[in-house]
Amino acid sequence: MTQPITIAGAGLAGALLATLLARRGLAVEVFERRPDPRRTGYEGGRSINLALAERGLHGLRLAGLEPVVMAQAVMMRGRMIHEGMDPPFLQRYGRDDSEVIWSVSRGGLNISLLDAAEAAGARIRFDERLDQVDWAGRRYRTISGTGQTSEHGFRALIGADGAGSALRAAMNAARPLGEHFEPLGHGYKELSIPAKAGGGFRIERNALHIWPRGGYMLIALPNVDGSFTVTLFLPNEGDPGFDQLTDAAAVRDFFARDFPDAVPLLADLEADFADNPTGMLGTLRLEHWHRGGEAVLIGDAAHALVPFHGQGMNCAFEDCVELDALLGQSDDLAWVFGEFEARRKPNAQAIADMALENYIEMRDAVADDRYQLMKKVERLLADRHPTRFVPRYAMVSFRRIPYAQAQARGLVQSRLLHDLTEVVTGVDRIDLALADQRIRSELSEI
Ligand SMILES: Cc1cc2nc3c(=O)[nH]c(=O)nc-3n(C[C@H](O)[C@H](O)[C@H](O)COP(=O)(O)OP(=O)(O)OC[C@H]3O[C@@H](n4cnc5c(N)ncnc54)[C@H](O)[C@@H]3O)c2cc1C
Repeated sequence: MTQPITIAGAGLAGALLATLLARRGLAVEVFERRPDPRRTGYEGGRSINLALAERGLHGLRLAGLEPVVMAQAVMMRGRMIHEGMDPPFLQRYGRDDSEVIWSVSRGGLNISLLDAAEAAGARIRFDERLDQVDWAGRRYRTISGTGQTSEHGFRALIGADGAGSALRAAMNAARPLGEHFEPLGHGYKELSIPAKAGGGFRIERNALHIWPRGGYMLIALPNVDGSFTVTLFLPNEGDPGFDQLTDAAAVRDFFARDFPDAVPLLADLEADFADNPTGMLGTLRLEHWHRGGEAVLIGDAAHALVPFHGQGMNCAFEDCVELDALLGQSDDLAWVFGEFEARRKPNAQAIADMALENYIEMRDAVADDRYQLMKKVERLLADRHPTRFVPRYAMVSFRRIPYAQAQARGLVQSRLLHDLTEVVTGVDRIDLALADQRIRSELSEI
């Protein structure tokens, strides 16, 4: 292929895909709506972080970026649960420190990816947002921040332009994609816990902190500088709801009532609340992800999910790995894009469903006695049958087996855990003979 492939969006997925394709020797051009964050800073300088797990790490490894990214990552061993004024307790994610996830800075990661894409030979134009596509003429138009328009030809367009994708809108306008967006009805607000004066972490460094409160929750992920990025997830309307938190006094009263143990940590609560936007959450499902060999969508543009499994970026990076591998196999873009959609769509649907379920688990079930018993039994069974019974969280976060398989196996395991803990209250009373027999008959080796 001599004419370049054009990627819309140099966010996380666009920049990783550009790197992988350029390293494969393909000509790649990328355009991005925002100015270059290496010159202007990222997102107004706010520290926003993300949980990076094995699927995402695998993509970064293929791009040669694992050492750079891991040098700036903070290990998270599990969930540190803050219930009322009781001392917080850690629920490990995996069996030991070989099964953990990592908190990374979104801005730092994006900048590393942009550097890698350019070093590999990709051409990136900043401050150009996609405006229109002329499908018949194979041309697209962009607009700069100052309103200047420019026109370009293309061979194929890849939409890595996020949940509000302009390429998706252009594809949909020409031929409907079967788009369905389910709003969650809950939004989010980013807050912060500063580092200690002179450096250091105010709460346990190596954990993802959760303050579960039933229908809503607060979480905090560590940053290398000792601070934490905190996110409040809350219904958009109701009591409590974002629509009620209209002034500083209402914010302070709500936190004093529901998160009194977090208030002393949130040094700039009222200012953060007023300054940071309230984000919207939902699940995007599309019937079609591509338009012949002319265009295809990846990452959030194809399948935005709710963030409760910490997998949106990880899933987007898996998309990049899959699309890169397919482009290495064939020049027939209609085949490549069709195959990409066929392979990735069931998996994107599976992680979207699992992410929705995880909201209920995180905000509610983590503090429940039955849930904690099931977690202990799950660990016991995983140790007895390491090749057959792999906890669903581990399949999603520490392995790369397709999400759809993780979901299907997770369902079998969940039924077993429910049955085993139905009438017993302690892990020592579990019917292990029954568990062993059902695991051998219902779960194949992986
Ligand atoms: C609160 C929250 C927490 C999250 N936490 C996690 C987590 O812990 N772990 C995880 O894996 N995922 C997490 N996610 C999900 C993750 O942020 C997304 O899945 C990921 O950013 C998707 O990458 P992307 O490249 O597809 O989209 P984006 O990162 O949104 O990038 C899209 C890019 O396209 C550009 N763009 C947009 N429109 C245009 C246009 N018209 N023309 C040109 N460029 C354009 C944008 O400026 C941007 O740079 C979280 C999401 C939220 C909302």
